[in-house]
Amino acid sequence: MKLSQMARSIAPSPTLRLNEQARLLRERGEPVIHLGVGEPKNKAPRAAIERASALLEGGYVKYGPTAGQPALREAIAGYTETFYGRRIAPENTIVSASAKQSIYNALVSVVNPGDEVIILAPYWVSYPEMVRLVYGVPVIVPLRDAAFEPQIAAVEAAVSDATRAIIVNSPNNPSGAVYSSAFVAALVDLAERHDLYLIMDDIYHQLVFDGSEAPSAYRFTQRDVDDSTIIVINGISKSYGMTGFRIGWAVAARQVVEVMTAIQGQIITCPSPLTQAAAEGALTGSQEIVEDLRRTMQANRDAMLDELHAIPGVRVTRPAGTFYCLPDFSAYNPSSEALSDMLLHKALVVTVPGKAFGAEGHLRLSFSGNREDLIEGIRRIKWALDPSGPNEIYIGDHKIVRD
Ligand code: PMP
Repeated sequence: MKLSQMARSIAPSPTLRLNEQARLLRERGEPVIHLGVGEPKNKAPRAAIERASALLEGGYVKYGPTAGQPALREAIAGYTETFYGRRIAPENTIVSASAKQSIYNALVSVVNPGDEVIILAPYWVSYPEMVRLVYGVPVIVPLRDAAFEPQIAAVEAAVSDATRAIIVNSPNNPSGAVYSSAFVAALVDLAERHDLYLIMDDIYHQLVFDGSEAPSAYRFTQRDVDDSTIIVINGISKSYGMTGFRIGWAVAARQVVEVMTAIQGQIITCPSPLTQAAAEGALTGSQEIVEDLRRTMQANRDAMLDELHAIPGVRVTRPAGTFYCLPDFSAYNPSSEALSDMLLHKALVVTVPGKAFGAEGHLRLSFSGNREDLIEGIRRIKWALDPSGPNEIYIGDHKIVRD
């Protein structure tokens, strides 16, 4: 088969591959615990379901405007004012069929072939591949230490004449770190000095713990949104737990939104008005669900940390947000892929190798699932790593053997 060179250079998402492996094991009746997936267990907010149901009931679900339904773009402008203290126009927003698509659309709109895009490790797995998809060159700022916040000097050192953009994700998948105000301010300053796009993936910005906040890039710029190179990405997948609705958005200068809209029009015409109605319901309805989710995730984090602290030699940095933790297991195995594979087959626990996120020696563990499951999952990991423990354990009537 003749495939394009670019297509052949793209790695499949390791998290989606692991989901598939877990599904196959479950189908065979194996009691798999999934600490790989980033997806809260909640039901969609009432207001979201009501809006979408009303539209569906009317039976009239047709194409809509390419950049999104006017009511949802208004709601996003309102959301931006509430959470970012920025007044923007609906014309500064574009809705897409997921935040993932928003990021891709932003990249395809601002990156020329051969342009470099700076990515900070640990990074979300899709960023380097998406940069390659637009014929750009990912430039990784390597992992520095367990605080998981890069040094601004390292970011500055990564800037070259070919740099076009920086992608930043805070609160961060996979580490759960929330970047400090000082770091975000320095990033904005750097981007403005070098005239770079600063793509802020804020998808977890409401999921922060212990009463803290995720500092927004807008706080540190004097520029009006229309003169700014900041592109903010957000969506309903994480804060509202509405992953299956596939709605995300970008906020940017009108000129950037216009280009993104032209491109989107050629690819999907428009995101589904049905799920856009649900998204509008989520944004304008009761926000209690977000707080409930945040509280649940914080309690899950605490439960996971308690269990992880009981494993000797594992170094854990307390996540300040998201629903991921990135402990360092290198004392057990320097290869995160080998370790993750062993844990899947011996302990029937799905973890994601840190290598995929530029964090070799670490495993990404999601605490978005049921609390009992995540406690059981970490206990099984502890058992699998402890040579002095029993050689076999029973999960229900299912026996698993370490060696
Ligand atoms: N950005 C980050 C950092 C994510 O973790 C995810 C989902 N895993 C996304 C974007 C994509 O979200 P969506 O479901 O809206 O595509």
